Amino acid sequence: MFSRALVPLLALLFLLSLASGLQARRSEGPKEAYLKAKKALINFSKTKQVKKRHAWLKIIDNFRRVYLLYPESGYAPAALLMMGRCYEELYGYSGRRADLISAIKRYQVLVERYPRSRYADDALLYQARIYAYKLKRPDKARRILKELLRRYPRRDKAKEARKMLAALRASASKKSRSQKVTKSRTQKDKVRQTAKARKSTSAVKSTASKKPPAKSPSLPVGEVASLPLAKLPPEPVLLKGVRHWSSENYTRVVLDLADKVAFSAHLLRPDPRLGKPMRLYIDLRPALASAYVKEEIPIKNGLLKAVRVGQYRPKTVRVVLDLGSLSRYKVFYLEEPFRVVVDILGEGRPLVKAERPLPKSSGKGLSLAQQLGLTVRRVVIDPGHGGKDPGAIGPTGLKEKTVTLKVARLLRAKLRQKLGCEVIITRNRDIFLPLEQRTAIANTRGADLFVSIHTNASPRRRAYGVETYYLNFTTDEEAMRVAARENAVSQKSIGQLRRILKEIMLTAKVQESSRLATCIQKDLVSHLRSRYSRIKDHGVKQAPFFVLIGAQMPAVLVEISFISNPREERRLKSEKYLDSVAEGIARGIVRYVRETQMAYLQ
Ligand SMILES: [Zn+2]
Repeated sequence: MFSRALVPLLALLFLLSLASGLQARRSEGPKEAYLKAKKALINFSKTKQVKKRHAWLKIIDNFRRVYLLYPESGYAPAALLMMGRCYEELYGYSGRRADLISAIKRYQVLVERYPRSRYADDALLYQARIYAYKLKRPDKARRILKELLRRYPRRDKAKEARKMLAALRASASKKSRSQKVTKSRTQKDKVRQTAKARKSTSAVKSTASKKPPAKSPSLPVGEVASLPLAKLPPEPVLLKGVRHWSSENYTRVVLDLADKVAFSAHLLRPDPRLGKPMRLYIDLRPALASAYVKEEIPIKNGLLKAVRVGQYRPKTVRVVLDLGSLSRYKVFYLEEPFRVVVDILGEGRPLVKAERPLPKSSGKGLSLAQQLGLTVRRVVIDPGHGGKDPGAIGPTGLKEKTVTLKVARLLRAKLRQKLGCEVIITRNRDIFLPLEQRTAIANTRGADLFVSIHTNASPRRRAYGVETYYLNFTTDEEAMRVAARENAVSQKSIGQLRRILKEIMLTAKVQESSRLATCIQKDLVSHLRSRYSRIKDHGVKQAPFFVLIGAQMPAVLVEISFISNPREERRLKSEKYLDSVAEGIARGIVRYVRETQMAYLQ
């Protein structure tokens, strides 16, 4: 094992050593580089060299070079697929489990970075095969196959995935049958009981979350987390307004209501003969559309074409969203005030945009910043609160909204300098932004990371220290209190978020967010400690923050210090302290990006 201090250094050396070998040869484009790599593989496969590990690694390196030099080209995903295949081949000779893991990693990168690539379904299928037949993890294989069918139901590999899934299911039920026979009577009873329990919870779930009926297996999937019907008011509730944000590949629509309503979502296929696009409609009940809400809101902005609002039945308002495309949707609610949030992911352009090519290497290969930029191109920093919402207020009157904006600006400058990436802040002035709009900004701008900056506050004046959060449900009372304050809602309605999160978290980047939070927390604490005494490390925590719900990228919320603590409030007034805070967070982000890049390239 390397010592902790050595690891970042080794990471850096590794990246630099890559840079030296990464010059693009003149007049060589992605196609030439890829074909050359492939030709080398074909020639190699006919020689006795195939038994030699180092020879394989060289072949794999040819493809890696294509991916690193031309990440925007269509050859990058192809190169990743080839790397995966080569590692699998290598495993055939080496028998090393690590080679299989390397193959899986390449396939994962392909699916994650190039979800629209024609090879994405292949990458999922190959992963599933490794898990099922080589690593003996049929459970994991089944999950991946289901993902393949959900995301790429019409691709050519879907057919194979269905067959493989059926075979895995058959062998699983055979196994469990043979196990059951040998079980004792009491064990059998236990099995029956848990099965019963499972059945009853799933029954609760199906009434609580009304999923649209699956009309055909190829329709996109959505999650709907509505209110339990028993809690509804008897009189129709006014739909007061519709807000929306949209880009090529993402849309968020927020329906503002005067009180709680139930809702359901349904999908209508496009009908080219009638000139109708893909439509998602949301029924709100019991509800009444306000006269101030326009019946038709033309938008024509990226994914979202129009929003239409109508009184469908005396107590039902129907909101129809005309969409360019749709691959996945989520509908959930936030409270105080009550609003229904609709998140839609399109099938549009890939996440990696072709119009932003990698800066040309000037004979010296890729700079460190350029290489890091391969995984993180755009960071959104969110200074908490603003405008009519001052956030927490310190003993002498310092406002959280002022501190967070200062830190966000400092952090923006540091990240631009350290990573050379694009940095966007959600507000650059003292204005009010609803929490759901902040996430929408990050999603519509296609951010790779989202960092929300806040200061903590506690009724106990003595409380002080630093903590970093990512989105998840929690039973920790302190964390609940912090989330309730930041969400500007009562602690009671925080408790009700559990069910929403269960539905919504399915696609959240929980692990990546937790890793980002860990990097930031560690570096922030250690940097502050190198300059200030009495810096308390509260560690990484989880809590249901509105501002993180629905984020499509790793997302965290940093509580930089307690504004309610007299000593920390004094520090938060000093530019020097704020600069140290920004520096600590920036270092954490750089470390996260570097580690991500390492994982991609190892
Ligand atoms: Zn705050």
